[in-house]
Amino acid sequence: MKIIQKDFGVSTKDRNQMVDITRQVASIVAQSGISDGDVVVYCPHTTAAITINENADPTVPQDLLLTLAELIPHSNPGYRHCEGNSDSHAKSTLVGCSEQVLIKGGSLVLGTWQAVYFCEFDGPRSRRVSIQVRGE
Ligand code: ZN
Repeated sequence: MKIIQKDFGVSTKDRNQMVDITRQVASIVAQSGISDGDVVVYCPHTTAAITINENADPTVPQDLLLTLAELIPHSNPGYRHCEGNSDSHAKSTLVGCSEQVLIKGGSLVLGTWQAVYFCEFDGPRSRRVSIQVRGE
C-alpha cells in the first residue's frame, strides 16, 4: 500500500463560509497515482471543519450555515472562553475535522450532487487542509 501526504491553503472571506475544495482533493488524488483506496481530508484547526454536502444548489451551504448559527449562537451569556469565538469551536466539533472519501479508478467516489467542503467558522483567515491518499 502506498501513502501520499499533501496539503494546500484555503483563504476565506467571511466569518462563516463553506468553500468547495473537491477539485483540489481530486487533483491531489490524480497526482498520487493511486487508483483504488481512500483519501482522508483533514482540517488542522479548532475553529473550522470538513464536511460533504450538496454543491448543485448554492442555497444548501447557505442554509447549513443558517442552521448552525441557529443551533449555536455567536454570543451566549454562558460562554466562558475569553477569545469570543466559542461558537466557532462548537461548530468545528459538531461538524468534525475530517472526512474520508473512497477512490475507485483514480476518481473520488462521490454522489452526483456531493462536494467536499472546507467550513470556516472564524474567518476571514488563511487556512490549511491536509490530505492523505492511501491505496494502490
Ligand atoms: Zn478560541
